[in-house]
Amino acid sequence: IPVDPFDLVIFGGTGDLARRKILPGLFRRYCAGQIEGDVRITGAARGEMDTQGYRDFAAEAIMASDQSAGTKKAHLDEFLAMLHYVVVDAMGDDGWEELARITRSDRIRAFYFSVAPRLFGPLAERLHQHGLADGQTRIVVEKPFGRDLKTARELNRVLAEHFDESQIYRIDHYLGKETVQNLMAIRFGNMLFEPLWNSQYVDHIQITVAEAVGVGGRGDYYDRAGAMRDMMQNHLMQLLCLIAMEPPAKFNPDSVRDEKLKVIRALDPVAPDDVVRGQYEGSGGRPSYRNQVGNRDSTTESFVALRARVSNWRWAGTPFYLRTGKRLKERASEIAVVFKDAPHSIFGEEAGRHRNILTIKLQPNEGIELGVTIKEPGPGGMRLVDVPLDMTFAEALGPEEADFPDAYERLIMDVIRGNQTLFMRGDEVEEAWAWADEVIAGWEKRGDDPLPYATGSAGPDDALMLMHRDGRRWREIK
Ligand code: NAD
Repeated sequence: IPVDPFDLVIFGGTGDLARRKILPGLFRRYCAGQIEGDVRITGAARGEMDTQGYRDFAAEAIMASDQSAGTKKAHLDEFLAMLHYVVVDAMGDDGWEELARITRSDRIRAFYFSVAPRLFGPLAERLHQHGLADGQTRIVVEKPFGRDLKTARELNRVLAEHFDESQIYRIDHYLGKETVQNLMAIRFGNMLFEPLWNSQYVDHIQITVAEAVGVGGRGDYYDRAGAMRDMMQNHLMQLLCLIAMEPPAKFNPDSVRDEKLKVIRALDPVAPDDVVRGQYEGSGGRPSYRNQVGNRDSTTESFVALRARVSNWRWAGTPFYLRTGKRLKERASEIAVVFKDAPHSIFGEEAGRHRNILTIKLQPNEGIELGVTIKEPGPGGMRLVDVPLDMTFAEALGPEEADFPDAYERLIMDVIRGNQTLFMRGDEVEEAWAWADEVIAGWEKRGDDPLPYATGSAGPDDALMLMHRDGRRWREIK
């Protein structure tokens, strides 16, 4: 279904995110028939460029992300005709009058802040000064949203001076993933899972977001952030919320976000022994973390694992193990809900112990898998074996149905539709920082360095111990 005509301004329209995600995503939505009519997309950035130059930039970006784009030449030309470019300085006066002139007041207007976070406040201020911050306006704010509770509060305060909460779309692209939304469908659209979704039946939950790459060219930023701030406080926390939340009464933005907020508020402080930090070493010609960020004494973590507890009726006694890191064995993200053992085995010791595990896979391929125990086929007696009931979308629904939008495309369309369900509310972000700040303060007080781990491993051994001491083990990263 096409969205209403809109004007979208991408501040930072020539940046890496615009090139890799935003512009190709918009093109895909255009091809899907979701964007049509009198739509204007304006790249706004500091670099000198004209509209034709920007269309060339966008064409290149789209071709690089989608090899088949060349075969959709007519579509591509129509899409490019929607693009414009204005040289704008977020910190100065350049370009603002032109931007105000070309942005139309009779339609939805969205301003995507795809620039460094220090520019978020100045952009909000200038939109206001130039009459662009009225009720029709929506702003989309990229991560990182602050670096602790204090800075996040300050940013919320600055944005709230000119925008109502209903106009602010804080992006966490993990929430835009098809499977993450499917998680809600699985939980609240079926009778099968919800009765078991509590500490009586769930032994523990594991959330892993493993990356194979290192910090790459983002070393400067990353070394000031680390895995806790860059990934745990936002992405893993959001996943935890969706797994742990109570059923909202309705699938609307505030009902869902109220329930997520309650989860964050129910989190216990994390004990110092329940956190393991790591930093990758160099190997096989690949530089170590410290080399890569150019800081020989860096104590920033590129890996963090922790045991969290949600203290409420549903989850008391069920630990949540969370880990994320760079330069690990594979790029693999998943949530695993590990159910308890059957209370009694009628098949004897030799049948082995088996557990049901519901795995929600986010990367590299999205899908949901339920491990069930069956009899091993053949004459060998009553031996049990675990097999997956695989719900990989491509297989179940056919390749066309499974060709779902990438997270960014979906989220941008939600902005135009005015649906905030998959965006973080200001109070959620602040509560998540309050929790993360305490964890960070814990290790800063102790003053210990992150533990080294080998490139291509599963992180430091102590992270394995975090589960072993509870008689559990991480799922293999594969
Ligand atoms: P980038 O450095 O590649 O691009 C920055 C853009 O901002 C450029 O278009 C530049 O011209 C523009 N800019 C810089 N100073 C400006 C000014 N004073 N006025 C107007 N425009 C100015 O950055 P990026 O990687 O595209 O990241 C943009 C935002 O998205 C950041 O907040 C980043 O944290 C976030 N983000 C990026 C990624 C990613 O994969 N690149 C992923 C998640 C979040």
